[in-house]
Amino acid sequence: MSQVPSITLNNGVAMPQLGFGVWQVPDDEAAKAVATALDAGYRSVDTAAVYGNEAGTGRAVAASGVPRGDLFITTKLWNSDQGYDRALRAFDASLGRLGLDYVDLYLIHWPTPARDLATDTYRALEKILADGRAKAIGVSNFLPEHLDRLLGTASVVPAVNQIELHPQFQQSPAREFHRRHGITTEAWSPLGQGRGLLEVPAVAAIGHKHGATPAQVVLRWHLRLGHVVIPKSVTPSRIRENLDVFGFELDADDLAALGALDEGRRLGPDPASFNEA
Ligand code: NAD
Repeated sequence: MSQVPSITLNNGVAMPQLGFGVWQVPDDEAAKAVATALDAGYRSVDTAAVYGNEAGTGRAVAASGVPRGDLFITTKLWNSDQGYDRALRAFDASLGRLGLDYVDLYLIHWPTPARDLATDTYRALEKILADGRAKAIGVSNFLPEHLDRLLGTASVVPAVNQIELHPQFQQSPAREFHRRHGITTEAWSPLGQGRGLLEVPAVAAIGHKHGATPAQVVLRWHLRLGHVVIPKSVTPSRIRENLDVFGFELDADDLAALGALDEGRRLGPDPASFNEA
């Protein structure tokens, strides 16, 4: 039914390249938004313990009638739950709130270098993977230096690193590092949080050329570069619009124009110093 292509992760698991994100959406509203997204044809949902909407996400999944095997559910371990035992307990709690017996992808949300617990935490994720309670494991917001350190002790190469990524923050060195290590790059805030990026005249001009909206142009850019994307919206028309991105292709001129938008500036926190509990 859906035209969304899959990316094959480094352990052979297939992940839809376009999914639905629910950051900053309160639980009840998340249930509604996820229901709309599943109805529109999304099959992948990105939540996190700290978003406080795993329960609403789980309710929408259960009510959707979509077979579990057709869905790809991601959640993330919050910073204060780092450490081997805590991580195992936090994962149980997340599964309980989601009402699932496995997730498709479990991520360490931030490296939080001040804690220095990523190695122990990741060992817990490896156990969860070995027990079949996550189909794939990975990290989020890990800089190449954090990944380098993790790869020194891990037995499983993270399948995914979910990082802030959009045309104004293109993260070329991180993407190159991921490519070399077989780690899939997943873009958070793929639309630049719907702030200035979607008003940039060059983006609008490309959209005009293809009969597409600025958001569709930006999503197409990600897909073309091989990123997994998880745009967020609670507006039904935008939820559908963000999935309707398979009817046009960007050309070399478009890619050059979008490539020139990089400002190297984050919208979100810097993983080198973000240690919030
Ligand atoms: P986003 O880039 O997806 O932008 C979302 C905002 O853009 C919406 O709130 C809306 O204002 C606007 N928008 C959406 N669709 C639009 C459209 N078609 N036209 C015009 N405006 C539109 O930002 P995000 O929510 O920050 O990121 C997406 C997802 O990434 C999150 O929901 C979450 O799942 C994930 N995320 C992860 C982390 C992390 O640390 N791992 C951090 C932030 C976000």
